[in-house]
Amino acid sequence: MSALTQRLIERIVQDGPISVADFMAACLYDPDFGYYTTRPGVASARDFLTAPESSQMFGELIGLWGADCWGKMGAPAPFQWVELGPGSGALSADAFRAMKAMPGMQGAAQVSLIEVSPALRKLQSEALGAVGARPAFCARIEEAPPGPSILIANEFFDCLPIRQFQCGADGHWRELLVGVENDALRFGLAREPAPLDLQGAPGAWHETAPGLSDLVGAIATRLNAAPGFALIVDYGFTTPRFRNTLQALKAHRPVDPLAAPGEADLTAHVDFDALGRSAHAAGLSVHGPIGQGAFLEALGIAVRAARLAALHPARKDGIAAQVHRLTHADEMGVLFQILCLSSRDLPPPAGFTPTLPGTL
Ligand code: SAH
Repeated sequence: MSALTQRLIERIVQDGPISVADFMAACLYDPDFGYYTTRPGVASARDFLTAPESSQMFGELIGLWGADCWGKMGAPAPFQWVELGPGSGALSADAFRAMKAMPGMQGAAQVSLIEVSPALRKLQSEALGAVGARPAFCARIEEAPPGPSILIANEFFDCLPIRQFQCGADGHWRELLVGVENDALRFGLAREPAPLDLQGAPGAWHETAPGLSDLVGAIATRLNAAPGFALIVDYGFTTPRFRNTLQALKAHRPVDPLAAPGEADLTAHVDFDALGRSAHAAGLSVHGPIGQGAFLEALGIAVRAARLAALHPARKDGIAAQVHRLTHADEMGVLFQILCLSSRDLPPPAGFTPTLPGTL
């Protein structure tokens, strides 16, 4: 039995069953055995491959999207390029390279990376160093230097711990908890119904992320104090699907979330409707969400792919495969949604209004 399983069992035996959110928080962030705190940060040992790791075009197009935002903000110098949960650092490194296309932008960009994992900080520092950027690190968004900013969060919101509720045959919702049975971790529903004002069919699931409003609040505090845009990219939904979206991945394979706490990546789908509502209530403008495919196409991924293929003819097929993976509806094109939050008085960002065909 792993040390974290033992630690969780002792805690539950002493204090009673815990919520899925508390379980997720322990699995991801336990200071000694948490997945993100102990993660080696070696690419070959990773449990999933994200968009910026699959293709340089992803970060490049986000860098160009950021260049448009920077212009709309009045080209402030300096400004903060803030990435939440940068993983390998590939996205910000590719974006930083692409900023060169906008005169003055690279020199004005101060890169701040919000990262909990010391091993990943090292990797990110190397990735950014290789393109000539010197990132500053913070554990929380509130610690990033103030001022105008462009924030990016790719597959960050899916780490937010969620509480889960299931609708019973009696029409009442009960919270899913993690308890202990025969010296092992077990899921079970709370005996008492939860006070949820929600209609559901028996067996339906409802999920909430208790940390969402604080995280959106921290972004809003920044963007209300100084001009800025925040781009949030993640897998998620806009209308409730009443499904259980908790997912544990280990070495690219789904595993039982209770099987190896701290050794698998635990995520849940992002509720973009809740995110947008929370941002609007905090005083921000909300754009989207829009599917990743439509967004990248609006930003010109086809043009970028053609240019790359012309520069590297031997990589033509690989580049086409990357475009397919990033944009196709059967791959990441629809499952991944993109939402932009911005300070109230800024013009809308690029990529969110479908380009209308010209008149004939
Ligand atoms: N954005 C990256 C990786 C996403 S994985 C990519 O697209 O490739 C999630 C990242 O967020 C990891 O770098 C992880 O260490 C970091 N992370 C997770 N929870 C965090 C938290 N609460 N605070 C800061 N960083 C966190």
